[in-house]
Amino acid sequence: MTIAIVGAGLGGLALARVLHVNGMDSVVYERESSRGARGQGGMLDIHSGQRALREAGLLDGFHAIARGEGQDMRLLEPDGTLLLQEDTPDDAPLDRPEVDRADLRDLLLDSLPEGTVRWGHEFTSAGDGRLDFADGGGASYDLLVGADGANSRVRALLTDARPAHIGQNVVEVGIPDIDRTHPDLAAMVGRGNYWVLGDGISLAAQRNGDGRVRIGISFYNTAEDWFATSGIPFDDPAAARARLIDLLTGWNPRFTALIAACDNTIVPRSITALPVGLTWPSTPGVTLLGDAAHLMPPVGEGANMALLDGALLGLALAAHPDDFPTAVAEYEHEMFERTGAAARMSAKMKDMLTSPGAARKMLAFFQPDGA
Ligand SMILES: Cc1cc2nc3c(=O)[nH]c(=O)nc-3n(C[C@H](O)[C@H](O)[C@H](O)COP(=O)(O)OP(=O)(O)OC[C@H]3O[C@@H](n4cnc5c(N)ncnc54)[C@H](O)[C@@H]3O)c2cc1C
Repeated sequence: MTIAIVGAGLGGLALARVLHVNGMDSVVYERESSRGARGQGGMLDIHSGQRALREAGLLDGFHAIARGEGQDMRLLEPDGTLLLQEDTPDDAPLDRPEVDRADLRDLLLDSLPEGTVRWGHEFTSAGDGRLDFADGGGASYDLLVGADGANSRVRALLTDARPAHIGQNVVEVGIPDIDRTHPDLAAMVGRGNYWVLGDGISLAAQRNGDGRVRIGISFYNTAEDWFATSGIPFDDPAAARARLIDLLTGWNPRFTALIAACDNTIVPRSITALPVGLTWPSTPGVTLLGDAAHLMPPVGEGANMALLDGALLGLALAAHPDDFPTAVAEYEHEMFERTGAAARMSAKMKDMLTSPGAARKMLAFFQPDGA
């Protein structure tokens, strides 16, 4: 029985690894030409997904690359008021450590037998047990798993649902080697997450493992074509930084100093999500996991859900090695419930970030008896 996984992201690789641990083979088809073909960028906050890493036998390896101090949190208002500061003690449990996405992907890739991942295979279509690639090649399968992310092509085999814009547009910028280049700003941001929440705009800065601080400036309640009308000249980074600073009128100068210190990498990101609670009738031979199945607002659940999906589908297939339809139905039943709850929570969090008084609402959320 051939299990074909489309996409070597966290979810697809977790599935391949848990199958391997349970003595089952799979093939992962990835469109990128090699593991280093595209920067993976950024830190991930891994909490519930640690169960998947335990099932994959990779928890020790994860602890070796996780940054416990990345759990630090500072929450501020645009006028500079510090609402919350949480510093992680050295001996704190690794409940939600941050990990570099590329390190986590490498951990999974290195745990698979040579040849499991077939690079440079871009899936285009499938039917009758055969999948086709953009280069004209093909392969056969008994079970096809779409782990091909937000813009999944496998998804169309199961549902007409498509991601829709959620009224959030993000501009990503960053300060390289911040300890050396801007020690004052490094001390301000600290070791983990630094959030400034205003009305309709938020700034989230986060220290990465390589000393870069990545900064995402979110503009809420904005249209899908907002970048075209925002006046941000993405082809002129210095002018784009100046325009971003203009858009933060009234914000404390220490926050705009963060933007002024950024280098010339400036990335617009238009945020989309699938309908909350999306399901489809179970179909023998095809299923989805991760963002392909349940793309949600980016509030720290997506990677965790993708890892869990991969691990739990792997366990279901290992429990029913001669009956894939039963394994898939069991997996989908659990996945729809779990990820539906996570999507509802993510939508609620996004609504909170979008609404007036977001910083105070978030402060209440972080209190022990918070919402
Ligand atoms: C800026 C940002 C920050 C985030 N932070 C967090 C966080 O802190 N915590 C968290 O839990 N989540 C976070 N997320 C969400 C998280 O990144 C995703 O939910 C997660 O990566 C989904 O994993 P996946 O395996 O489903 O898909 P992906 O990681 O997107 O992997 C999909 C793979 O499929 C490949 N592929 C695509 N199409 C094809 C094709 N046609 N043929 C072959 N291969 C194909 C792609 O190249 C890719 O390798 C964040 C997201 C963003 C954008």
